[in-house]
Amino acid sequence: MSETVKKFRKIGVLASGGDAPGMNAVIRAVTRCAIEHGVEVMGIKGGYAGLISDDVVKLGARDVSNIVNLGGTFLYSARCLEFKEEAGMQKAIETCRKYEIDGIIACGGDGTFRGATDLSNRGIPTIGIPGTIDNDITATEYSIGFDTAMNTTVQMIDRLRDTCLSHARCNVVEVMGRDAGGIAINTAIACGAVGCMINEMPFDEDALMKKMIRLRNEGKRQFIVVVVEGNPYYSEAFAKRIEEATGIETKFARLAHVVRGGSPTLRDRVTAARMSVRAVEELLAGKSDLVVCERGSSIVTTDINFALITDRMYKNKLRDGDLDKYSEEELEKMRAICDAKRRGFEDLYKIMDEISW
Ligand code: ADP
Repeated sequence: MSETVKKFRKIGVLASGGDAPGMNAVIRAVTRCAIEHGVEVMGIKGGYAGLISDDVVKLGARDVSNIVNLGGTFLYSARCLEFKEEAGMQKAIETCRKYEIDGIIACGGDGTFRGATDLSNRGIPTIGIPGTIDNDITATEYSIGFDTAMNTTVQMIDRLRDTCLSHARCNVVEVMGRDAGGIAINTAIACGAVGCMINEMPFDEDALMKKMIRLRNEGKRQFIVVVVEGNPYYSEAFAKRIEEATGIETKFARLAHVVRGGSPTLRDRVTAARMSVRAVEELLAGKSDLVVCERGSSIVTTDINFALITDRMYKNKLRDGDLDKYSEEELEKMRAICDAKRRGFEDLYKIMDEISW
């Protein structure tokens, strides 16, 4: 056993922010892998809130039995505003000291990673694992929960399609994703939707309605239009506009949180296993302040701040000075990640356009 591994006697694991199917698979894999390396594991309940309120349980190998297939997170998750304040952070650190937690693995989204960086900077090495159904963390091509959420969305839309076909209707379906169109564009393609509105691409309502009228005249009976969430007033009103403009009876459905739950798919369970083992290995090797990412089909690690700034670059939310500490080479890497993500959407949108009629 190496010296760095010996230094870590106990680590903590938590899920934080919005839950995602596959978080349980992360908790299980982190626990088993750490124990395999001779390290004890503490489960922190309710995300960072559990560190503040001292809600921490010891996890043995069998405590994580029979959860690999379960949605949600058995340690629970929460949004904890107190953790963003210095006083809350200090309480969290006291709890880590009390239980002699030498490092933490935190599964969640970008908010969770900001918390991870704060902990790392205050002497509690922390590594993030991306868990969010929206797949909206720019530094990683994939986040745990995305595949399950998409598959559940497909099942729901398939059902709507059945009834649209029977009654010669259209259904506008608002899917999850916050501002990110990943679930929307992929499920639109998979369900044979006639149109898809996402924020990443320009959307021409008139052109869609004209296309629908033409297709109806040619005999097409059912129409599915997928719209990303983000503007709660848009989708429902859009359904009304379609009905008025095309004369096709149009229903509206908001899938909402139903796609957040459910048993994780193979993709999410295997990704959880790969990312968790990598996170434990990095932590025990003395690394900190990293997020585990998927790029190509490889599992890699990225500095959390690099990941957060890349995210802001992609979302056009850069603040003054954000890029100052990065070399031209690192900036080039950030731009390449953002360009690849944009191209991914453009490619999918083009594919959809060519076959959605
Ligand atoms: P997600 O991780 O899914 O993006 P949130 O944005 O709600 O979800 O973040 C999860 C939690 O991470 C928050 O409730 C808070 O405890 C912590 N957090 C978020 N932003 C920060 C921040 N700027 N500094 C420290 N902790 C943060």
